[in-house]
Amino acid sequence: MRKRPHLPPAGRGPEALRLTSAAARGELRLPVCTACGHIQYPSGEFCSACLSDGLEWRVVSGVGRCLATTRLHRSSAEYFDRRMPCDIATVRLDAGPTVAAHVEGEMAPGDGIELHLRLDAAGQAVFRARRQGDEKAMSVPNGEIAGRCVLVTGANGGIGRALVAAFAEAGAGRILAASRDGGIAAAGPITPLTLDLTRPETIAAAADALAGVEILVNNAGRNFNEGLLAAGAMAAAEAEIQVNYLGTLRLIRAVAPAMKRRNVGLIVNLSTILAHVNLPLMGSYCASKAALHSLTQGVRAELAPWGVRVMGVYPGAVDTAMSADFPPPKMSPAAVARETVGAILDGREDCYPGDMAGELRARLDEDAKAVERELAGYLPEAD
Ligand SMILES: [Zn+2]
Repeated sequence: MRKRPHLPPAGRGPEALRLTSAAARGELRLPVCTACGHIQYPSGEFCSACLSDGLEWRVVSGVGRCLATTRLHRSSAEYFDRRMPCDIATVRLDAGPTVAAHVEGEMAPGDGIELHLRLDAAGQAVFRARRQGDEKAMSVPNGEIAGRCVLVTGANGGIGRALVAAFAEAGAGRILAASRDGGIAAAGPITPLTLDLTRPETIAAAADALAGVEILVNNAGRNFNEGLLAAGAMAAAEAEIQVNYLGTLRLIRAVAPAMKRRNVGLIVNLSTILAHVNLPLMGSYCASKAALHSLTQGVRAELAPWGVRVMGVYPGAVDTAMSADFPPPKMSPAAVARETVGAILDGREDCYPGDMAGELRARLDEDAKAVERELAGYLPEAD
């Protein structure tokens, strides 16, 4: 394996991947015995309490107690060695298992703790423990907004304006509010930037500004609310894929090289829960967002070795001009922006703002085909 001194070492066993999956959503999931309720961690093929093989990864309570703390001064891994000293705690969860966790803040044996599962700079799961009631934000890689230079595309749209406001409130040092046709006023940290994702020359012209971007928020998108075949022509499908997929890729390609050189950076892609299942009423939009979702995964993998974090945001219906024809309930753009900023600070990789997205995500996990058929049912009856 290539040495990457700027990253922690990465493990890739099947158990590590299940932990990674939970950490990506900010959930503490461990294998639970379906027969007796015992939490089997470290995981195995059988429950060590009743020998059942019915183990299921479920969200468990992180409440527990600190048994012991250890201060490490040296590590054989260069990444950790540069970050010494480092405190590790052995904690026992009230629900059963004992795990070793990185300590957040101060901790002593006997303290009541809460255990969290988060991703580290290499995108691998790591346990973090902090004292109960400690409200201090968790230290997550690429999780800082204060003082950072943020670029938001589509900044004159409903969610775009809300994102700019949310990043300003979170203390961003500079916010480049990008839009195709301007119309945004400079104020405080906010600087307007003219950028048309379908015209590469406008991206090239902004090269100097783009080189300083530390957080790229790809929010610009088109939605013509058309069916794939019901649409009279290809124009809507072409415009959607040009902005939602190709335009986003074009901008990421312009911004990523500087992030790679700095070994730090965050890219946030505003998608939709409909990237995971097609709503035929707006079939071509969903297809373009599915392409964006796939792009998010691919870019994340390509940038992970350089310590650059890539986050996907998958809201349900949002109350904007783009979804004017869509029936309620819709969440407010401000709520989407708030949850997006919260997910950045919290170290999540996938963010599902709002009840609609969360519920649909859970049902897709359970039975994606059933959800596909349900959304197909919203089409008007054919003549
Ligand atoms: Zn059992």
